[in-house]
Amino acid sequence: MSELRYLETLHPSWGQSFVMDEVLFESKTEHQHLVIFRNAQWGTVMALDGVIQTTERDEFIYHEMLTHVPLFSHPEPKSVLIIGGGDGGILREVLKHRSVTHVTMVEIDAQVVEMCKTYLPHHSQGAFEDPRLNLVIADGVEFVNQTDVRFDVVISDSTDPVGPGEVLFTSRFYQGIAQCINPGGVFVAQNGVSFLQRDEVKNTAQRLAPLFKQRGFYTAAVPTYVGGIMTFAWASQNDTLSESELGKLTQRFNEAKLSTRYYTPKLHQACFALPGYLDKLID
Ligand code: SAM
Repeated sequence: MSELRYLETLHPSWGQSFVMDEVLFESKTEHQHLVIFRNAQWGTVMALDGVIQTTERDEFIYHEMLTHVPLFSHPEPKSVLIIGGGDGGILREVLKHRSVTHVTMVEIDAQVVEMCKTYLPHHSQGAFEDPRLNLVIADGVEFVNQTDVRFDVVISDSTDPVGPGEVLFTSRFYQGIAQCINPGGVFVAQNGVSFLQRDEVKNTAQRLAPLFKQRGFYTAAVPTYVGGIMTFAWASQNDTLSESELGKLTQRFNEAKLSTRYYTPKLHQACFALPGYLDKLID
């Protein structure tokens, strides 16, 4: 019997495929096509609208780097906003920081949260039950343009700029972020695999420029975000995030007493060093 495969369709003429040993869930939600399946190599895998979102085996890389780089850059992060993040991985990592007293998570698709709690419990590990969480089911672009709450760290853990995620790469979204971030706060966002999604990086750099005094990108290698290094955008009204003084980062990391498998203070300092093609693209 021929094996059932999931073909990623993010790139029209090239893509990765996964043998689906068992399909755990598949449905058109109110907003997206959601599939969760088991794969011998990657464990449980979740995909939205033909794009791999997260796998049990390598999720820690992305979730640690999109969380601990901004949080350890901030002297004392208390209030955090997560846009997207339905699988709960970012939320799990944010809540490891004892200084954090409040997290608002704005996720557009309630079914993604429910199905990931059921089939990807390792991602959230009970984080959705943490009393510090305020879970809002809404469109992130509307929330940031309407909220009167202010945040020390804002993390956009969105899908790619196709479908409901498209609005999370617009100037209107970034304007909303600039309004709801505290002075000295930091904003980070997943910004695609830059070798293949060059326009995404270029557009983000151009759209952040008029709104934030400091902005840039950092990277991490996430195996199932295929095509090269995963790029993260960052922005701040001051240079807190470029606070890559190793001694300070190491002190904060040691004081936090939290365990990581990918993030280290040295890697935090190094991940802002970009390849030449990316520097040129941004400049
Ligand atoms: N790590 C993944 C990546 O880098 O592609 C993203 C993971 S997470 C599953 C992406 C989440 O963004 C999904 O749960 C999706 O429902 C949510 N999302 C998409 N568009 C959104 C919007 N406009 N507002 C809030 N959440 C949104």
